[in-house]
Formats: sequence, structure tokens, C-alpha cells
Amino acid sequence: MRTDDLDDVVGWRHHLHRNPELAFEERETAEFIARQLASWGLVVKTGIAGTGVVGTLTRGTSKRTIGIRADIDALPIEEAGNPSYRSTRPGKMHACGHDGHTSILLAAARRCAQSIDFDGTVHFVFQPAEESEGGGREMVKAGLFCDFPMSRIYGLHNWPALPVGEVVARDDAMMAAFGTFEIEVRGRGSHGAMPHEGLDPVVAASNIVSALQTIASRNVSPLESSVVSVTQIHTGDAWNVIPEVAVIRGTTRWFDAGVGDLIEQRLAHVATNVAIAYDCTATTRYERRYPATINDRASAEFARATIAEAIPAITVRDAKPSMAGEDFSFMLHEVPGAYLWLGAQKAGANPGLHSPHFDFNDAAIPYGVELWSALVARELRPA
Ligand SMILES: [Zn+2]
Ligand SMILES: [Zn+2]
Repeated sequence: MRTDDLDDVVGWRHHLHRNPELAFEERETAEFIARQLASWGLVVKTGIAGTGVVGTLTRGTSKRTIGIRADIDALPIEEAGNPSYRSTRPGKMHACGHDGHTSILLAAARRCAQSIDFDGTVHFVFQPAEESEGGGREMVKAGLFCDFPMSRIYGLHNWPALPVGEVVARDDAMMAAFGTFEIEVRGRGSHGAMPHEGLDPVVAASNIVSALQTIASRNVSPLESSVVSVTQIHTGDAWNVIPEVAVIRGTTRWFDAGVGDLIEQRLAHVATNVAIAYDCTATTRYERRYPATINDRASAEFARATIAEAIPAITVRDAKPSMAGEDFSFMLHEVPGAYLWLGAQKAGANPGLHSPHFDFNDAAIPYGVELWSALVARELRPA
């Protein structure tokens, strides 16, 4: 990438980092994206699923069409680091690098508009609310693939565990499906000194937490991947009062749909029946959030071949999938495509995604831009 081009892109990234916006509130971010895309002559549609933006570039006569997607939202985290472009918004920061994803896709759109030879149509998809809120699902519901038909879609995530200059593009699973649960354990409150007069939901909840560990270890086949993590327990206000209610919350992960069903069934069953053993009741609320992110093999293979043939600076690595979730999964349910990890490791301290110290590694930008540009050039290669 030319140095002055790269300087622009890093500038955009720092601008976005300074001005983070949370899920479905990305109005300034969307405006910034739309303005840039329009300035390079793309046809721009805004307001898709609220704050989504699509920029479209057509060249030549071919009917071939692909899409590339970036996520644009920030997280409700107070930034702990102190870069010169530190977040100016209290309690909000780009701790997952979506500022980097957005800047890379903008740079690829500019490159495609100005200097890439191709024959067909590219839709540059900027999606809101990737973090837990399912902006990808909302874009699909809002008619993304009806209004912008495409034969393939690609997406990437910066990956701090992977060195800069390396890319992972697996066949099949990249990211896990996830659910969330809340179990309300209800007993009868009493004096802490007279426990026999109450029904203690704290003891029942403690045993539920222990028993939930057996879902992954005793119910799911050892050959399948699954996670059941209790991440919150809320109960009680006083040293000497046995409370009425304890609330347990957590998250679940899986790849195989049958394992997802099993986890959901066992969770409620275990909670209900352990509570009964303590004369308490348990009410389980379970929500399936994102399906697993599964790459289409031909698309992943195409991405790997593109890198091997056109981008000598990038090395393709294999890696195990991640148990983290990703709402690009909703798009891959509708259209074949591939989700890639872009190496973004930093020397020395290398804070992970969602750390308050996280700051997207700008050194990864040129690799991302080369990747998207080469995919457009090869997918839509002039006849
Ligand atoms: Zn994230
Ligand atoms: Zn992310």
C-alpha cells in the first residue's frame, strides 16, 4: 500500500476510535462511512436495519456480484489505554477492533473504485451491532440479500493471537453458536441464624452451579465441543438474612445443532430438579443468540488460493475454531461465503479482544486491504 494511502486509512481508524458508538446507535459512524463511499463514486444506501450502510460499485457488464462485510459498533467499556486518539466518550470504546474492520473495508472500496480492474458488482456492507445485538440478523431481515443479491459474501475479524501477515480461512466452523441463560431460584427468606425456618436459595443455587458443570463433562459427547459458563450469581443484601431469591446467569457455546438442543434441555432439567431437592423452585429462561459461523468450503478455498497466488506477503495458517460467537453467521446462513481471521498480534503486551487496554493494530491494515482487493479482482476477473 502507498504510504499516503495508508496514512489516510490510519487517520480514519483513529477518527472512529476517538468517536465510538454502541449497537444500533452508530449514526455518526454510518454518516462518516456513507460520505467517504459517495466521495469515491459508489452508490450508497443508508438506514438498513437502522444504521447499516451498503456501498455498491459496478464495473463492466458481468452479472457476477459479491459482498464484503465489516462491523462498525463499539463496546460499553471504559478505555484503560491512553493512545493520542483515546475514546472521547465515557464508557464506550472500540475494544474489538471494528474501527479497524471499517477502515480496511473503506480502503478496499476506495482501491476498487480507483485502481482495481474487475467486471461485475461489489457490495461493501457495513453492519451495525455485531456485539450481542445481532445487527447481522437485522440486516438480513431488512432485506440485505433481496436488495443487494450476491453470490458470495466475505468478512474478517482481526485476531490478536495471530501474527501480522497471517490469515486463517478454515473450511467449515470458524466461530461457535451461543446462547444465554438466566435461572431464578426461589426459596423462602429467613433469619441467617435460624436457617431451618427458611428455604435457602443460596445453597440451592450453589448446587445448581456445580451440577451445570456436568452438562459439558457428562452429557455432551467428549468428541463434541461445548461450553456452559456461569458468569453471574446475584443474591442477598445482608450478613444475617437468608434471601428469597438467587439469580444465576451465564452463556453456552456449541457447534453441532444437536449439542445446542441437548445443552438447552439439560440446563432447565438440572436447574429445576436440583432446586426441588432443596425444596426451592427454579425458573430457567434460555435464549439462543447466534448460530455457529460456518464457512462454505469453496469460498474458504477460494480465499486461500487468492492469497497463495496474489498476496505473497500473507501466509495462510490453519487453526482451531474459536468458541466466541459472531453474527456474520446469520449472513452465511443465507449466502455462501467465508469469514477470515486477520493476524493483528502486537509485540510485547498484546491485549485481547474486549480488553479495556485493546487497541486495533494498525500494522494489520495493509494486509486486510490487499486481501479484499485481491478477492474482488479474482472473484470478478474480467473475461
Ligand atoms: Zn467483540
Ligand atoms: Zn468483534
